[in-house]
Amino acid sequence: MNNMIKNDDIFALRLCQISHSYGFGVTKVDVLKNLDFDLERGKICALLGPSGSGKSTILQIAGLLDTPSSGEVIIGTHKTVGLSDIDKSKLRGQEIGFIYQFHRLLPELTALENVMMPQLLAGKTKSESQSRATELLEKMGLAHRSKHLSAELSGGEQQRVAIARALANKPSLILADEPTGNLDPETAEKVFYQLTEFVRLEGASALIATHNMELSQKADFIFSPFSKK
Ligand code: ADP
Ligand code: MG
Repeated sequence: MNNMIKNDDIFALRLCQISHSYGFGVTKVDVLKNLDFDLERGKICALLGPSGSGKSTILQIAGLLDTPSSGEVIIGTHKTVGLSDIDKSKLRGQEIGFIYQFHRLLPELTALENVMMPQLLAGKTKSESQSRATELLEKMGLAHRSKHLSAELSGGEQQRVAIARALANKPSLILADEPTGNLDPETAEKVFYQLTEFVRLEGASALIATHNMELSQKADFIFSPFSKK
């Protein structure tokens, strides 16, 4: 990829003057307007806002899964304007790990296989993938669940596997969309804590969408671009 920026490797993610609308004409919804956001490497940011405010839209754009109506997304040192879908997908695979509200694990695979999968897709060998997956699941306190199908796990365990999967390829950036939104408050707190702890241990950075003010305090800083509306 040729779109490298020199002498500027401070940020894991930069959103520059992002605007985004859905639909056309009378059904047009303007969700984001001239949004700027910088996430330094190693930092964890809570993206705080009520339901429907645009959190998922920001994460989809930051994760190169949607192209903004205007503005620029920079992942690490990579400018992404004009990149082909194939190059975006490569960059995503190398640099970004996603965690969703509903775990999106593959139900026919075990916990271990779910954490191995993105590594195999990235070209790692079976034994490399297995050893990294085993290590991550052990650190998550899930060694005893590694041979279980994801459907046999509790909601909290499923999200912990999803966290391990997101970190499997050592991404520089984790994007998490209400990762504890589907859990009871006690489990949510534990899983949120584990997520932040693992992002720090792995030296990654994270943007975590939540509408939970209390959990958002566990991040290094809060980004709440919707409050002025
Ligand atoms: P949040 O994640 O904070 O709940 P979203 O980013 O999902 O918010 O949505 C922000 C706004 O954009 C909402 O008004 C939603 O209805 C609208 N929206 C989201 N996705 C689409 C879409 N694909 N088409 C039209 N409107 C959408
Ligand atoms: Mg959402």
